[in-house]
Amino acid sequence: MDADDAASIQSRPPIPPESAWRKPWLVYESYFGLGAALYLGCIGLEATLLRGTALADGLAFAAGLFALTILNFQHEILHIHGDGLDGKAEDAWLNLTSLVTGMNAQQWQTHYSHHAFTGEYDGQLIQRRATKPSQEKPELLSDGSINVSKLVDKDLDDYIGLLRREGVLRSLGRLAAPLRIVVTTLPFLITIPAFHLLMVGISTYRSLSQRQWLQAVLPLVGLGLLVCLTGVRCALITSVVFSTMFMVHIAAFHIPNSVEGKVYSYWQQQVLQTRNLAHGRSPIMRMLTWYGSYHLGHHLWPKVPIPNLPELEPLAREYALQWNLPVEDQEQSLAAGLRLWVKEAWSLAGMG
Ligand SMILES: [Zn+2]
Repeated sequence: MDADDAASIQSRPPIPPESAWRKPWLVYESYFGLGAALYLGCIGLEATLLRGTALADGLAFAAGLFALTILNFQHEILHIHGDGLDGKAEDAWLNLTSLVTGMNAQQWQTHYSHHAFTGEYDGQLIQRRATKPSQEKPELLSDGSINVSKLVDKDLDDYIGLLRREGVLRSLGRLAAPLRIVVTTLPFLITIPAFHLLMVGISTYRSLSQRQWLQAVLPLVGLGLLVCLTGVRCALITSVVFSTMFMVHIAAFHIPNSVEGKVYSYWQQQVLQTRNLAHGRSPIMRMLTWYGSYHLGHHLWPKVPIPNLPELEPLAREYALQWNLPVEDQEQSLAAGLRLWVKEAWSLAGMG
C-alpha cells in the first residue's frame, strides 16, 4: 500500500453501535461472583476440613483456575473505570481483588502503556517511576486513541524482556548452543509459573516508591493469608497454576517481534501487533479468557465491556483488513502464539 492509499483509509476504527456499550451487570455479577465464591470455597475447604489431605492439592489447583476469573474481572474494572464505576468504587474493587491476583492499582497502570504502545518492547522489567498518581488514566484523544505523549513507559507485557537488551544472558547465549537453549528457556521459566509472585513483589515495590502504603501492603497480605490458610505447598500450587494459566492463555494475543524502528501509526500498530485467539469460540476458552480472546476488538475499543466483544467481531475483522491484516492472520492458536514467542527468544538469545 502506498502512502496515498494509507492516508485515504478511514484511520480510526468504526464507532460500535449503542448496544455494545451497555454494561452487562448481570454477567459481571455472575462471572465474578461465581469465580470468587468457588475460589474462596476451595481455600476454605483446604484451610479446614481437608487441610493436609491429598484432596487439598486438587482444590489448590482449582483455586488457581478460579483466581483467573478474578484477574479477568480486575482487568475489566480498569477499563470501564469512570464509565459505570466511579473512582472510589474502582479503587475499592482493585484493592480488594489485588489480595488474590497480587496486582494492585499501581501495577495495573502499566496496562495503559501496554494498550498505548502495543508490541513496542524495550526490555524494561519494572515500570519507570511515574510522575503521575497511580490511578490517573491517560487521556483519550478525539479519535479514541490513548494520548501517548504523557506516558513514560513502553509495553511491559513481555515474556522475554530479559533478552531484549545486551547483557550477561545474551553473552552466555552466544558462547555455545546448549547455553543458548538455557538462555532462551530461562525468561519463560520466570515469567510463566512465577507471574503471581513477581506481581506481588513488583506491585509492592512500586507502591512503596510512590508512598502508597495500603496498596503496598495488600498484595503481601493476600499472599500471606494464602500461605497461612492453606500451607506453603497448596499456596504454591495455587500460585503456579494461576500464573501458568494466565500467561499461557495470553501468549497468542500479541506478536513478540517489537515494533521498535517500524513507522506504524497508532491504529496500525494496534491491529498489526494484536491477534484474536483461534479457540475463542470454545466454551472452555470463553470461560477462561472471559471473551478476552476477541483481542483485536479489545485493542480497538478498550472501553467496550469485554462480554460484548463477540458482537463487534465482524467490525474488528473488517477494520483489520483495511490495515492489510488478512483474515487468516487475524487469529492464531495458542501453540502458534507460543511458538512465535520461543522463536523470538531464540533469535534474541543468539543476537549481538
Ligand atoms: Zn486491556
